Amino acid sequence: MVHRDQHPLGPALAHRSGHGGGDLAQQGIRNHDADGPHDDIRVAAVDHHRVLAGGGAHRACLAHGTGGQTVGAHGCELGLGAPGAQGRYQLFAQAAALPHADLVHRYVDGQLQLTTLISKLFIFCSLRTSANTADNQANSLSDQISAKISGCAAADASLRHTLAAFDDLDAIIDADPALAEYRYLLRNIRRDSKYLLSDKEEELFARMNISGASAWESLRDNLTSSVKVEYNGGVTNLSAIRNLAYDPDPAVRKSAYEAELACYDKIKDSVAFALNSIKLQVINECQVRGYASPLDKALYQSRMKRETLEALLGAMDEYMPKFWQYLRAKAKALGYENGLPWYELFAPMGKSDKKYTTQDAKDYLLNIFGGFDSQLHDMVERAFDEAWIDFYPRNGKVGGAFDCGVPSARQSRVLTNFDGAFGDIVTLAHELGHAFHDQQVFTHPLICQEYSMPVAETASTFNEVLTVTAAIQAAQDKDEKLALIESQLSDACQIICDIYSRFLFESSVFEARPQEFLDADRLCQLMLEAQKKAYGDGLDQTCLHPYMWLCKGHYYSGSLSFYNFPYAFGGLFARGLYAKYQQEGEKFVPLYKEMLHATSVNDVEDTAKIAGIDLTDKAFWRQGLQSLADEIDLFCDLVK
Ligand SMILES: [Zn+2]
Repeated sequence: MVHRDQHPLGPALAHRSGHGGGDLAQQGIRNHDADGPHDDIRVAAVDHHRVLAGGGAHRACLAHGTGGQTVGAHGCELGLGAPGAQGRYQLFAQAAALPHADLVHRYVDGQLQLTTLISKLFIFCSLRTSANTADNQANSLSDQISAKISGCAAADASLRHTLAAFDDLDAIIDADPALAEYRYLLRNIRRDSKYLLSDKEEELFARMNISGASAWESLRDNLTSSVKVEYNGGVTNLSAIRNLAYDPDPAVRKSAYEAELACYDKIKDSVAFALNSIKLQVINECQVRGYASPLDKALYQSRMKRETLEALLGAMDEYMPKFWQYLRAKAKALGYENGLPWYELFAPMGKSDKKYTTQDAKDYLLNIFGGFDSQLHDMVERAFDEAWIDFYPRNGKVGGAFDCGVPSARQSRVLTNFDGAFGDIVTLAHELGHAFHDQQVFTHPLICQEYSMPVAETASTFNEVLTVTAAIQAAQDKDEKLALIESQLSDACQIICDIYSRFLFESSVFEARPQEFLDADRLCQLMLEAQKKAYGDGLDQTCLHPYMWLCKGHYYSGSLSFYNFPYAFGGLFARGLYAKYQQEGEKFVPLYKEMLHATSVNDVEDTAKIAGIDLTDKAFWRQGLQSLADEIDLFCDLVK
């Protein structure tokens, strides 16, 4: 799903459901903003999976207890002309009279039909819009589909209630081989029902949410996308000024940071209101639904145990000083004595000015992937040969990069903005990793292809590690090696240190909010405390970023909280797998594929077990961290 950059429905839903403005490029697509890759992407997309009344998306929908955001807003006037959709209503009406086993079958069949239709329609509209954002016909069609889907949510909640109440559900699944592949889906309906409210309450909640958290989120999006940033005698926007953090000129990086911080003054009070209101809504909702805390809800949505989170964070804690060492070494190399100032976090180092064609990229990737697995090699070859990839930037096309699985064709489509830099090859590797993950789950029925956030970036990050590791080994001069390692470590530092600071910040907001309204100054204070803990003496403690709570969209979702730890999970899970591949060689590969296949029908711990991994054991997480620690040693050597 997610940055759900690989999820077929994400961008479309995110874009079309009135999520709060912004275009596809901002919401649905991987976007290298100033906080590294994979950021600012998933929330919107994932959030809107919940309105989709079908398939895996569905599981993230009513399953997690908040209901489709727009339930009832469009009534039940479906009119899609879809037999599946109509079937659902007939099913609903007849539910009471049917034998349980028949109802289960009809539920599954109805879901399959509806999801098949919706996914085709959404993918078509979404891809058309990505290729040309001014395609108003596709935009308008997407809107119409979203509206019709949201009309299904109340009926869907009823069906789920009905199924969940069957005390013979397990026996029905066990007795019928045809239902075996739906076991996880059906069992989740039962366990999710614990947090489901009555149909009326779900509808009320969803209606109120439109003018509640969802509206506050829109306000924040609107303010951050429209705020005027004064810079160099002119005016620019927030996203442009933040991207200057990557500028090769240190004076530009510093002045951009100062201009960015200055602009927040204009909007900080309103955004603080938004954050306070959203967090209070989440706290209240968790109480009503019976979640122990917002974090418990986030873990539940991630299909992940608390022990896993504790092992992950515990291992990260142990390695934190190593990342501070990297930051201090970078600071020293750039001429700073007291740790790295915030505005130098993304300062490029070394030099890599080689240019590549798409043919070079193809040869490069085939060479690397061929050494790993022939199925991956062949799929990548197909992707290049059969025009799965829209490579180059052009007017009207969205920025960034994404992969979109097309289940009906068992293919994927990849969009990039290829400019010939080595980073563009890494981006292709990443997106083709998602495509490879698509291939592994396409063999499930369509409504069993959705996987949870923490595992969503596994195959993509794994491909990146394969590609960059090979490049570092092959790098011929010191500057090239340094550029590659630095860029990798700067990304890693985001998923370790920054994600940790976001987790600490969000925890402290949830803790404080029931007792107090947190004004902008208080939020800045909490953010600085979190950053000091997470970045230690790696950063210059007099030059941090108190407004990170304002510029990151992740805190502003009423339906998904703690959208931070899945990034750390994803990055380190893939690295831990890579470490395992290095130890086990070829025999790891089939297990890896089997594990990817299992991601959509298992909780994350059971998925990892397939590759022989215990996620609740810190030792596993240490392996990924150690591989980064080794690179930090290499980096420190290079800049000595
Ligand atoms: Zn990705």
